[in-house]
Amino acid sequence: MRKKIVAGNWKMNNDLDQTILLIEELKKNQITKVNVMIAPSSLFLKTAKDLLEDSPIEVISQNVHQKSNGAYTGEVSCDMLKNIGISTTLIGHSERRAHFNENDFVLLEKVKFAIDSGMNIIFCFGEQLKDRKSNKHFDVVKSQLENTVLKLNSDFWKNIILAYEPVWAIGTGETASAEQAQEMHEFVRNCISKSYGDIVSDKVSILYGGSVKPSNAIEIFSKKDVDGGLIGGASLVASDFDEIVKANS
Ligand code: PEP
Repeated sequence: MRKKIVAGNWKMNNDLDQTILLIEELKKNQITKVNVMIAPSSLFLKTAKDLLEDSPIEVISQNVHQKSNGAYTGEVSCDMLKNIGISTTLIGHSERRAHFNENDFVLLEKVKFAIDSGMNIIFCFGEQLKDRKSNKHFDVVKSQLENTVLKLNSDFWKNIILAYEPVWAIGTGETASAEQAQEMHEFVRNCISKSYGDIVSDKVSILYGGSVKPSNAIEIFSKKDVDGGLIGGASLVASDFDEIVKANS
């Protein structure tokens, strides 16, 4: 059975007080069989971790650097994260690709280094609107995966969760239809299967991300290759996030 996951990406939102408040709200929610994760600002990871000490909600990082330590001003290392008990990180979010020039080469370095350091990763990928409009979305996704995670040997895959996030659906209010999500998730699972076989591909959780809301979550999560969601905007509202978590139960 694949893990069902709902992960909230808070991005650069919430100051310390808001972080504490939202976590206190989330703690009141009934946790289901779903693995629930939140990714607050790196500045507040330790606070979040302490507040959630007795909770099944996992605190994860939004990003990590690809080197162990050194002169990389402003960056956070795997060891720093592990030192405060964080063992999962997003890698390759489209906003990191677009605003911080993270290309496939850097992302592969990050993935390798993080997993070699004992971390789990949620690897994000997805096409732009122009790719979908020109019917190149499958080719673009295939190449994003072939240049990164599909280069790894099969041992790495027990530490990899994937998140398909069509860029045109992130923060835009526009959501891929449940059919579009399923079609791409199935395609991705087939790509993994071709490289590593069904035993590996059947176990990989593939999340959908892009304007998931309480109103569309049940339909998206009902699809057989959609194992959960990576949630941006709606994860900042405790009641919405809770509804989305329950939609995946
Ligand atoms: C995201 O940033 O990963 C995301 C899916 O954002 P939103 O839910 O706001 O579209």
